Amino acid sequence: MAFKVILVLSALAFVASAAPQNRAACPPIVSRAEWGARAPGGTTYMGDSVSYLFIHHSAGASCSTKAQCIAEVQGIQNYHMDSNGWSDVGYSFLIGGDGNIYEGRGWNKVGAHTYGFNSVGYGIDFIGTFTSTNPTQAAQNAYQELADCAVSLGKVKSTYELKGHRQTGATECPGNTFYETIKSYPHWTDGQIGKH
Ligand SMILES: [Zn+2]
Repeated sequence: MAFKVILVLSALAFVASAAPQNRAACPPIVSRAEWGARAPGGTTYMGDSVSYLFIHHSAGASCSTKAQCIAEVQGIQNYHMDSNGWSDVGYSFLIGGDGNIYEGRGWNKVGAHTYGFNSVGYGIDFIGTFTSTNPTQAAQNAYQELADCAVSLGKVKSTYELKGHRQTGATECPGNTFYETIKSYPHWTDGQIGKH
């Protein structure tokens, strides 16, 4: 009897010790290698605990399969590098209508997404145009997992502020309909922020 109690207690202790690690679990991210990214022309690094997450839309086509979304991500990178003359795709991460997260510049790298704020936050792009529709629920769920992951990894402050791109300057990004939706997301804060 006593032996059984000890077994149960050790099983409970094992579960308790495993729990904190599970809490830090992050969603799978389709790596640059997996989507066939071009090598960046240059990289600028930034530290942990940045203050903002910025939500964007790509203002182009949406996608609903991994193959379609990879084609969109490649097209966005080509546009940013070849037409804008940037060193790499501008966004930190891109989320497809398929619910997958695609690595853009990734963690601890300064992006080119939110003029004046690229070194104090991550730019997360929803692939598509969301002026009159919302991203898929799968895409929105993936975003929330990524935001929670950013906190658990210490990439953003636990008190980070979520802003739509339009709250930093003259752009309609991330689209009228989606902008209304993100107002109910955790950490969204009202108001414009001036150039950093
Ligand atoms: Zn934007």
